[in-house]
Amino acid sequence: MSETRTAIVTGAARGIGAGVATRLASDGMKVAVLDLDEAACAGTVDQITSAGGQALAVGANVADAESVEAAVARVTEELGAPTVLINNAGIIRDNLLFKMTVDDWDAVMGVHLRGAFLMTKACQKHMTEAKYGRIVNLSSTSALGNRGQANYSAAKAGIQGFTKTLAIELGKFGITANAIAPGFIQTDMTAATAERIGVPFDDFIKFSAEQIPVQRVGQPEDIAHTASFLVSEGAGFVSGQVIYVAGGPKD
Ligand code: NAP
Repeated sequence: MSETRTAIVTGAARGIGAGVATRLASDGMKVAVLDLDEAACAGTVDQITSAGGQALAVGANVADAESVEAAVARVTEELGAPTVLINNAGIIRDNLLFKMTVDDWDAVMGVHLRGAFLMTKACQKHMTEAKYGRIVNLSSTSALGNRGQANYSAAKAGIQGFTKTLAIELGKFGITANAIAPGFIQTDMTAATAERIGVPFDDFIKFSAEQIPVQRVGQPEDIAHTASFLVSEGAGFVSGQVIYVAGGPKD
């Protein structure tokens, strides 16, 4: 039997991160449930532990180098060296370019790109020592361009280049890196988009589902299923890929 791996899932208090964290725990991993507010991680941690799994709530800001170093050190001490990392934490600050502020730009770059960079850098030393690692970064169909998301689409396209470079640099240490690019997933993030454009969330879901080939929007479990595959031991020859999980093809 393979050894019990320690995984870190960022932004795991809710949404896709919570779905991925609970899935990896049910796959048999010890899971660090990392989010900005440690108390907000309790729901995900309880879900894992009540199902017999092992989880740790960790409060950290992925965009802050000291916070990331401290969080990864705590996970290593309390759960074991992390050899699986899901860079999922994310924010949106949508606006048309002429209304987008420098703060909107910097905040989105900070969480998605700087955050993924800092978390990966802090975890890679444990992965290279173990000669094993699985990194999954959350991109988005918005990487292909999306009105009102100049900052977010640039960050999510950047995540794809970052992922491919990790795959090239870290492959010789038994580490794979892949990106998942979700389409519409029903979470607080898409609810916030509906609110911003002034459409009731149920209508937004219904309208979006009609545009998607499989005729439904995605759920966090859809992303969790793909992440589970990419971080599995058997997926060691899949690296540097971007998998669109969007209910249909994307370019
Ligand atoms: P969500 O429901 O808004 O959850 C995001 C989580 O990330 C929140 O718990 C948030 O904490 C946390 N977070 C934000 N900034 C952080 C920071 N600096 N450090 C640590 N944690 C932080 O979003 P989601 O829909 O699950 O999205 C998860 C990921 O998938 C994101 O990267 C997103 O861009 C990507 N994605 C989502 C969709 C979709 O349709 N939902 C589609 C494509 C890609 P707070 O609650 O404290 O802010």
